[in-house]
Amino acid sequence: GPSGGCIPEEYLDTPIDYDSLTSLGTIMGSGGMIVMDEDTCMVDVARFFLQFTADESCGKCTPCREGTYEMLQILDKIVNGEGTMEDIDMLEKISRVVSKTALCGLGQTAPNPVLSTLRYFRDEYEAHVKEKRCPAKSCKALIAYRIDPAKCTGCTACARACPTGAITGEIKKVHTIDQEKCIKCGSCYEVCRFDAVEKVDAFVVVK
Ligand code: SF4
Ligand code: SF4
Ligand code: SF4
Repeated sequence: GPSGGCIPEEYLDTPIDYDSLTSLGTIMGSGGMIVMDEDTCMVDVARFFLQFTADESCGKCTPCREGTYEMLQILDKIVNGEGTMEDIDMLEKISRVVSKTALCGLGQTAPNPVLSTLRYFRDEYEAHVKEKRCPAKSCKALIAYRIDPAKCTGCTACARACPTGAITGEIKKVHTIDQEKCIKCGSCYEVCRFDAVEKVDAFVVVK
């Protein structure tokens, strides 16, 4: 859950008990568990969980009230491809301060998703910062959609699903995406039955 932590595949066989989970930097919490695959961005997951606890913060103490806000600002920067390595360091520092100084359990556990993803998935943070790339191809600012001409059959399904008219092409002919019009909603990716629509790093698509 939002106050838990994220652990990698190598610990899949860990017994689900209080001590085992605590030793890995996560907690039992309410007992909920979410299993994620390689299509989930761990930076975005940390942001999602932190947004929840920030919304729940009662505001009584400064570390939780201000700390979660500042952490969210940094995570927003990183998923938008605007983060720096100093941001990652600052994120880690604030997380430790909040977990040690917040008044109640909500604030003390709020940084868990951030600290655990920094511990186990730091390479994903660094890919966003150093390479402006989301390894899971999930963060909108860092991806683009394009059509593989070798696979496109010209079935028109994507063009009909596109809400912005970004896709053009005649029936039974290769279709193309106008990157200027694309809002990265992913509808074309979902409807194409021929795996012709692909998600790529934004920097490889020339507008
Ligand atoms: S740590 Fe607890 S007391 Fe402090 S602001 Fe957060 S919810 Fe309120
Ligand atoms: S849905 Fe797929 S195969 Fe059909 S036109 Fe679009 S890209 Fe081509
Ligand atoms: S991602 Fe959405 S907006 Fe972009 S081309 Fe596909 S359907 Fe259209």
